[in-house]
Order: sequence, then structure tokens, then C-alpha cells
Amino acid sequence: MSVAAAYWDAISDRRVACKLCPTACQLREGQDGPCGTRGNRAGAMVPLQYGKVVAAGLDPIEKKPLYHFLPGRPILSVAAQGCNLHCAFCQNWQISQQKGAAGENLAPADIVRLARRHGSMGVAYTYSEPLVWFEFVRDTARLVREAGLVNVVVSNGYLNPEPLAELIPLLDAANIDLKSMDERFYREVCKARLAPVLATITALVAAGVHVEVTNLVIPGHNDGDPQLARLRDWVADLSPDIPLHLSAYRPEYKFDAPATPPATLDRAARLCAERLHYVYAGNVRLPAWNDTRCPACGEAVIARRGYQTECRLTAPKCPACDAALPIILTPAPRTAT
Ligand code: SF4
Repeated sequence: MSVAAAYWDAISDRRVACKLCPTACQLREGQDGPCGTRGNRAGAMVPLQYGKVVAAGLDPIEKKPLYHFLPGRPILSVAAQGCNLHCAFCQNWQISQQKGAAGENLAPADIVRLARRHGSMGVAYTYSEPLVWFEFVRDTARLVREAGLVNVVVSNGYLNPEPLAELIPLLDAANIDLKSMDERFYREVCKARLAPVLATITALVAAGVHVEVTNLVIPGHNDGDPQLARLRDWVADLSPDIPLHLSAYRPEYKFDAPATPPATLDRAARLCAERLHYVYAGNVRLPAWNDTRCPACGEAVIARRGYQTECRLTAPKCPACDAALPIILTPAPRTAT
């Protein structure tokens, strides 16, 4: 499949300047970007992973994780290799940090057919970094939307504003990884910057995309109370209704720090729940932080055991006290705002 890359400029000596993400690479002829998704071929930028699908399967939406978007429904989840961040603790590095164009050749229309065949409510672009799989996600998302299905991204949020603005009208829900509120952490551990991630979350929320945030809690790196409080406060100032998923880290890739103890996650969840209405703990057995409770009366409105979900809602309001709940129950594509 041959498709033109978006968001780049030709500069001198057949070099190209990439304008897709804030890394702002300049690539000489034959050179690939560090993301592994774009490369300079004969003086033109080429989307190297277009139509190269390394993973495609049906997942519970809770696995993304999205807890307030069509709870209990499965979604076709697809990925290509590559990522524009290089976090030393990456929990998915076997896909995200691989270079080269591996995978099954699938066109955007094939993905829609696959979604229909599986009875999926839509497509989730996930596992690695979908925002730098830009052209394929954009083209597929258009067809998904035309088919009356929903589009979901699970992302690090590290994209420039212009391509993000092009994608936003096609998106229904997003889980964005906010790794820390510490600029130094982003710079030293992820080789990136914090501000573009915050700008992406803000833009998605402002546009009416359903947003949930994930923070991987890594002992000794981002699990201090002051760090967690800054993250909580930033999310709460945007909206206390944004679900926050605190996820337990396990040693992977270049990090060998011990796994996050359940007690650390419990402490983090208590602290974040001081200002956020919906806080969850993942990758660990902490039943107190699995269920969705009505913030007004405490009624458990969605119960979860692992990926088994029991949704007790027939409308987005608490069956016990009638309080409105920001939970999307109907699989209808969003009308862009
Ligand atoms: S998308 Fe890839 S090539 Fe483009 S600036 Fe980001 S890391 Fe560099």
C-alpha cells in the first residue's frame, strides 16, 4: 500500500523535517525516524507502517483501560510496531520499540470488515503508539465512522496540535498515558516533554472526546505523594469526573526496579480520590479500587472482577439516588464539536 505521508517538509540536501510529533526529527535520505513509523525515501517522507498490522484481536474495553465508555463491551484492537517515546520502563516494548515493517498487510477497509465480522462496536488503536501510525489510523477511522462504529485511541498523547486537530473529529474515546507531572521525568526517562501531553489531553477534553487518564506508578520514580498530588490536581482542575487509572508497574525493558507493591497503589488511589470522583487501580488485586461508585451516594453502579464487568446502569444516572453519571452506555459515534 502506497500512501503519502502527512505533516512533513522537504528541506535542503533531500532531507525532510517531520512535523507529526514534538520530537521534530530531520531525516537524511534513507534514514528512519526513531519512532520506526516514518522514514526518508528518496527525499520524501514515507509512512513505513501503513497497513502493517502486528496485532489484531477482540479485547474487553476495560483492558484499554476505559471504564466509563460502553462498559463490558468488546472492541477490535489493532496495532503496528513503533512509538515516538522510548520510556525505559515500557510495559509493551516487544511491539512499541521494534523497528522494521513486520505484520499482516491489511487495508483500512479490511479493519472495518474485521470489526463487523467480530461484532465489534468499533476499533481501538492501541498496544504501541497509534498517533504516529497517523495516516493509517486517520484513513481507518474515517471508514469506521462511516460504518457507524466508534474509534478509540490508547496513546502517550505526544502529537503536534495540527495533526491532532485533524484526528479529533474522528475520535470517540481516548485513554492518554500521563506518566508524571515532572518535566525531568519525561526528559530523562521518556526522552520527551510533558507540555505536549498536557496540551493533547486538554484539547481532547475541550472537543468532547471521552477521555480517561492512566498513570503507571513506578516505585522510587513517580510514586511520591507530592508528585501524585500534582498529577491529581492537574486532572481534577480539568474535570474531577475524568477517570484516573493508577496502574502497577512490573520490571520490563530497561527497568529492573521491583514491581509496584499493592500498598503503594492503595496509597496513591486514596490520595487521588481526595479530588477525583473516579479512581481505579490496575494490574494488581485491589478490589476496593475496581468498581465504579456513584460519587453522590456511594452505590456500586458497575462491578468488576478482573475483566468481568457487571454494569447495573440502564441510563447514565445512579439507580439509587438519581445523580447524573458521566458514563457512556450507547455505542453511537460522537458528533464532532
Ligand atoms: S513522528 Fe517519528 S519521525 Fe516524526 S518527529 Fe516524531 S519521532 Fe520523529
